[in-house]
Amino acid sequence: MADPNTSEPALNPNPEERAREYELIHNRLFVVRILLTVIILSAYLFSGASVYLADGLRTRFGAIWPLVNAFYTLITVFGFAAVMFPLSLYGEHVIEHRYGMSNQDLEGWFVDYLKSLAIELGVATVFFGVIYAFLRYAPNLWWIWATAFYVLFVVVLAAVAPVVIMPLFHKFEPIENPALADAVKSFVEKAGLRVVGVFQWGLEEKTNAGNAALTGLGNTRRIILGDTIIKDYSQDEIIAVLAHEIGHYKHRDMARLIAAGSLLAAGGFYLARLFLQRLVAMFGFAGPDDIGSFPIFVFCLLVFSLVTMPVSNAYSRRREYAADAYAVASLGSSGALVSALEKLAAQNLADREPPAWIEFLLHSHPSISRRVRRAREMDPSPR
Ligand SMILES: [Zn+2]
Repeated sequence: MADPNTSEPALNPNPEERAREYELIHNRLFVVRILLTVIILSAYLFSGASVYLADGLRTRFGAIWPLVNAFYTLITVFGFAAVMFPLSLYGEHVIEHRYGMSNQDLEGWFVDYLKSLAIELGVATVFFGVIYAFLRYAPNLWWIWATAFYVLFVVVLAAVAPVVIMPLFHKFEPIENPALADAVKSFVEKAGLRVVGVFQWGLEEKTNAGNAALTGLGNTRRIILGDTIIKDYSQDEIIAVLAHEIGHYKHRDMARLIAAGSLLAAGGFYLARLFLQRLVAMFGFAGPDDIGSFPIFVFCLLVFSLVTMPVSNAYSRRREYAADAYAVASLGSSGALVSALEKLAAQNLADREPPAWIEFLLHSHPSISRRVRRAREMDPSPR
């Protein structure tokens, strides 16, 4: 029964059903977010507000078009974030608290939100500033230049993320526990990775979720292990998580995903080119490089990324299975990986067996039950 003293609905006492609910809420939020984005973009375009803002800025700044584009992007992205704010608050703070995942108070969450927004504003202004410069100077081949720039942009972001962006949100420290630090070091050396560092990722002050990742490129490449994993998992399980991340490293998955993302970006830019060419006259834009066409541009990228999402997710899931396979092979058995995956599922409220179509459409990682089954099948040790 619900506690009459709170307005919060009581959580489902069955952990598996609770995980299913949690997943359902996130999936619904995903759909709502997309629908809202489409509605906002349409309203922005069809009301004439986008053209009005672009014209107004041109009157203000005259021939200094990079300033026009920069101010347009800043105002538009900020306005979009403002309209979406209630949904961000609900999805990232309210729900996380209701399900016991967040350790952050509202103020802490809001500070992080503002930091993310500042980064988004900067990234969007630079990115679209350059793209619209290509539209201006190469009206036919801009989409090829845009793709090349996208690759450069993503590579630079990936390289600086672990040293510039991620420390804004979390602490990164050497692994505290000396026995674990030794075990990690010798496992990494045995795997033949001498340059990469392994860091403790300070998640716990903000979330109860477990996570680990391979981040960075070149000199900044490192493996990060959440303190939420280091604290609660056995040494064998931690090494299994590490082995999975080393699998990503060995398979060059960062480069593969960037290459795959670039192919998709090229497709999205090409689609935008087709649309912009046809719609310029219809909406009264000054030309294809008129920043007032921004809603059409973003809509094309959104449609293309949604349509291709099953493909990119399928590819990502394949890379995850491959990293699991590396972990099982390098550990010589599946036991530690399987128990780490089981713990991760419980800790992160993951639906162990989501409907296949949901996984096909939305998940970049295979479900835990499928990963466990595959890991057991790959186990080389006699059963
Ligand atoms: Zn992975």
